[in-house]
Amino acid sequence: MEEKKKKKHHMSMRTFLLIAISSLVLIVVAGISTGVIYFSGQTAANSLLDQTEEQAERLADQIALHHFRIQSSQNTLDADLSETAFLAGGRILVIDQNYRIQKDTFSFQQDAYIISENIMAVMSGEKERQRWIRNSYAEVILPIKDEKGEIIGVIVSTATTKPIEQRYDLIVRNTLILDGIVLVGVLIAAFLISRMSVRGLRDMNRRIAYISEGNLEAKLPEKGFSETRYLAKNYNGVISQLADIDSTRQEFVSDVSHELKTPITSMKVLAESLLQNEGATTEDYREFMSDIVNEIDRETKIINDLLALVKTDKQNAVMNYAETNINELIDVIMRRVTPLAKARNIELTYESYKQVMAEVDEVKLSLVISNLVENAIKYNVDSGWVRITLNADHKFFYIKVADSGVGIPEDAKDKVFERFYRVGKDRSRDTGGTGLGLAIARSAINAHGGTIKLYSESGKGTTFTVRLPIHQEDITSADELIDEVMSEDKEYGSTDRKDKETGE
Ligand code: ADP
Repeated sequence: MEEKKKKKHHMSMRTFLLIAISSLVLIVVAGISTGVIYFSGQTAANSLLDQTEEQAERLADQIALHHFRIQSSQNTLDADLSETAFLAGGRILVIDQNYRIQKDTFSFQQDAYIISENIMAVMSGEKERQRWIRNSYAEVILPIKDEKGEIIGVIVSTATTKPIEQRYDLIVRNTLILDGIVLVGVLIAAFLISRMSVRGLRDMNRRIAYISEGNLEAKLPEKGFSETRYLAKNYNGVISQLADIDSTRQEFVSDVSHELKTPITSMKVLAESLLQNEGATTEDYREFMSDIVNEIDRETKIINDLLALVKTDKQNAVMNYAETNINELIDVIMRRVTPLAKARNIELTYESYKQVMAEVDEVKLSLVISNLVENAIKYNVDSGWVRITLNADHKFFYIKVADSGVGIPEDAKDKVFERFYRVGKDRSRDTGGTGLGLAIARSAINAHGGTIKLYSESGKGTTFTVRLPIHQEDITSADELIDEVMSEDKEYGSTDRKDKETGE
């Protein structure tokens, strides 16, 4: 129920484009059509008025010339007036100074008097002329002037607007038909454009759906518009990282299973041989049992180391930073490992050049130093030496663990930091190593934002140098990191960007 209520209908990009393009064109087309229709109407009306005025002017000149003698055998004025009115489908009135109608082409008002505001305005010279379109007629009122320019009458001439109305109707009809054609065309174009613009996204979605079914090896095609291309590129980057993580995880699981199986296999072999040996003495039992206990210890150690590794893993690490006295921290470790060194007559020295207070996770850093020092003792020769030094500058502090031990061969230098890796597996087996110590150390150091380096010469000794920041930078939030990346890569970001790895 809750779910349903929350569900909102989302408009598809395609529908949006379709509506947007169509309505935009609709507005433009409607605007242009209205303009065309309006102006063509105006132009037609004006030209009819002009024409009517021109004819009235000509007749007014004639009337003035003949001094209002309209029904005279000496001129054709009467016929001219009637013909002009007839051709225009209108009526002409000739009015003299006394407002008497000297000629009405319709004859109704012949010789009658006519008083109207508009006629008076022209007669008095207040208005030079009057013209308008009214009740389907163009109407023009002009003064009749004698040779001296005195107004001696007015002429009222009307013409029907029927012919221009017909033309106007035709224009309106044609415009609407054209609009219809344009709109159909636009709808088709908008349909195609919207389909084309979302096609890339639609294909991408299908592929992503396929990839999300677990097919991490599938890639998005990096083609089409630049936006979709960059999207595909960045997405592919994310997917290949995921694929990497996935394969690392699988590798890790298989390594772990293998390592955990070894002690169990040994225990099974030991127990079975006891069972098969009918005449086993208590002595035999004691011996085999103590071997089994050793294997259990080893299994426990591997599990503990694995847990430590998971805890220091950068992604999972919960760092408990606190201002810590590093000198004291190393002192404590020294006291703990001294018996180990003594047992093999190894000289263990610690030299501190500075008092160092630093912001570290004490438990994790102790683990790192213990691992390095224990390794230096484990992989040493009897009566050898181990030297630990502590130094610092304004930004970092440095812990160096040097030994006179067996050294690490050139080709193993990178691998010693890998999980479960041991130089010469049998040798390490004797020392009880799990191959996880340096992996834990590196991951804890990386979590601190530090680095670890190793110098070694086979047969002469090994030196590990750890560099750690004295102060932890303000922890940057994911959003800030994203903003940083966005501002660096102006164009949609780039998957080519290499992460700044520390300590590798
Ligand atoms: P382990 O538990 O085997 O000691 P580590 O991860 O601590 O695992 O070390 C990995 C391997 O690196 C060791 O097995 C050893 O072969 C080698 N190694 C580590 N430290 C030293 C050292 N100080 N001198 C020589 N070899 C070393």
